[in-house]
Amino acid sequence: MYKVDVSDMTQFLLGLLNIYSPSGDTERAVAYVRKAFDTLGLETALNAKGALIATWNGQSSERPRALTAHVDTLGAMVKEIKSNGRLRLTQVGGYAWNSVEGERCFVRTATGSTVSGTILLAQASQHVHSVKLVGKLERNEQNIEVRLDARTRNVDETRALGIEVGDFCYLDPRAELTETGFVRSRHLDDKASVACIYGALKAMHVAGRVPHQRTTVLVSNFEEVGHGASVGIPAECVELLAVDMAAVGEGQNSDEYSCAICVKDSGGPYHIEMRRKLVELAQNADIPYKLDVYPFYNSDGAAALRAGGDLRVGLIGPGVDASHACERTHQDGLSATARLIVEYLIAP
Ligand SMILES: [Zn+2]
Repeated sequence: MYKVDVSDMTQFLLGLLNIYSPSGDTERAVAYVRKAFDTLGLETALNAKGALIATWNGQSSERPRALTAHVDTLGAMVKEIKSNGRLRLTQVGGYAWNSVEGERCFVRTATGSTVSGTILLAQASQHVHSVKLVGKLERNEQNIEVRLDARTRNVDETRALGIEVGDFCYLDPRAELTETGFVRSRHLDDKASVACIYGALKAMHVAGRVPHQRTTVLVSNFEEVGHGASVGIPAECVELLAVDMAAVGEGQNSDEYSCAICVKDSGGPYHIEMRRKLVELAQNADIPYKLDVYPFYNSDGAAALRAGGDLRVGLIGPGVDASHACERTHQDGLSATARLIVEYLIAP
């Protein structure tokens, strides 16, 4: 038997959520995960592009398997220092500007210091521009800016703060566990799944279980920009289980309390044998699961396949509400996902 320690897994998740890691600036988040994996006795290494690759030798190495989840998130970068001293941003990853409007942010300078600010519409004041206009304006790269919490009125004064074009701008995740078991935070995509993998591996480690097949865990660091798992899965692997958030919302079957098994997303159908196996494992272990289709969604599973991987790919994950906006999931969904990962790893 084994038991997923939901409270420990949640603490791991909150710690990870509080480390900024937009695609391209993931070193600290990867180090955090590596440290945790090291305590579980896994062999860990980084590849050239900075992703974490952990290996656990199983009972057999006949049909090696891989697991993946991504630690990189959405974010932004300084595109331009405006003549009024404020910043124009370029997005890292894809999202609607209104989903970050009003959010606190932190610009990291070359020396490592951070300057706080707020992401706002340039015409934010309703007493200056009227409620009608402010409500109607389209939010785009041209009219969204960062108001820095520093006395700056021009380009030179902003540069004097150490800020330069290309500096990363982090979104405040505002990570929080509610008394009702919800984890409310930005970037649960896909840190929630990294936590599920950690919770699963730890449960096996504590129970003295080993995977049935040699298993590679790839914690990828460029998923949000499309090429995360295009390298990092050993060629010997025949199966890849991608763990990424399930898209919860109107018309969707998944929810925050189950593990979703994705049957199809923008990359097409997932492998039917993987789907059948995952459904059977969930049923036999009494794990709450939902089959679902994600209409506007790509995973690292597709990245691995497009890069030429000869793999049977499946996709599971905890349901995340309002994805790429103010996200939320529940500990029950995390627990269900971690349990299905264990079942998959120990299954013949
Ligand atoms: Zn994701």
